[in-house]
Amino acid sequence: MTDIIIIGGGPAGVSAALTAKNRGKSVKIISNSVEQNNLWKSKSVENYPGMSNASGESILMTFRKQIEDAGIEVVTGRALNALSMGGYFSVSVGQDYFDCKALILAFGIVQQSTYPGEQDFLGRGVSYCATCDGMLYRGRKVAVIGLNEEAESEAEFLRSIGCEVEYFDKNRAKKFEIKGRDTVTELVADGTAYPVDGVFILRSTIAPSSFLAGLEVVNGHIITDSDMRTSVTGVYAAGDCTGRPYQIARAVGQGNTAALSACEYLDKK
Ligand SMILES: Cc1cc2nc3c(=O)[nH]c(=O)nc-3n(C[C@H](O)[C@H](O)[C@H](O)COP(=O)(O)OP(=O)(O)OC[C@H]3O[C@@H](n4cnc5c(N)ncnc54)[C@H](O)[C@@H]3O)c2cc1C
Repeated sequence: MTDIIIIGGGPAGVSAALTAKNRGKSVKIISNSVEQNNLWKSKSVENYPGMSNASGESILMTFRKQIEDAGIEVVTGRALNALSMGGYFSVSVGQDYFDCKALILAFGIVQQSTYPGEQDFLGRGVSYCATCDGMLYRGRKVAVIGLNEEAESEAEFLRSIGCEVEYFDKNRAKKFEIKGRDTVTELVADGTAYPVDGVFILRSTIAPSSFLAGLEVVNGHIITDSDMRTSVTGVYAAGDCTGRPYQIARAVGQGNTAALSACEYLDKK
């Protein structure tokens, strides 16, 4: 079992990983591909010490090299959720599970708000992972709202196992509502109702409130104390996911603090 799993390979996650590794802990980063980090698009960052006028891409690649040089394992993928198992945590990525003794959430800011009905029907027709839940809908009609890079291939997977797929990319519809009774019965997309048994919402990020039960979240930000402890024992958070200002220097500082707190927690365990 890994000592510390870090969700998110941006500035906060990288800083946390390097600190925890230096403290002798086994560390794993689970993150979307580095190109999917929004900072990748920045042409020039001028306020981060030591990297004058660097592009987002070059900063992220420098961080990535440091991680590789430190021998820190990176799992590329979208973490779907974490379960508290009473003394340890289990993080799911697609159909894989990774266990750890402490968890650091550094997944940046989640821009999208959830759709009406999404939270109500989560697990009752709404899913965030086609490869995990697709088999439940074999031979049935499902909708896929494809907002991330893997969405088309996940929709293809659903077709390959016998689902009838209604696919919505960013251009086909903008407004969605999920309706049903005990389980999902229809998706309303820009005012048109589609009868479906399931709705797969494929984003590159997961709302913090859906990620881990018991996590205190206010206005989309994870609440922490000054040592970056969250409301769940053994879980720490750092960077944009904890609030403004959204800045690299703040994320790096908080990542460092979160890792030190996680190490202290493990040392006392
Ligand atoms: C265009 C642009 C320009 C910017 N310019 C500046 C600047 O000049 N100076 C400055 O200080 N700041 C700047 N920022 C802000 C800065 O990028 C952020 O404050 C910083 O990247 C936050 O770091 P973080 O590690 O908290 O989150 P992020 O850098 O957002 O990293 C989080 C990572 O986690 C991944 N992730 C999210 N959810 C999951 C999941 N469920 N499973 C797996 N991985 C997941 C994301 O894809 C991402 O790669 C800019 C941001 C943008 C978008």
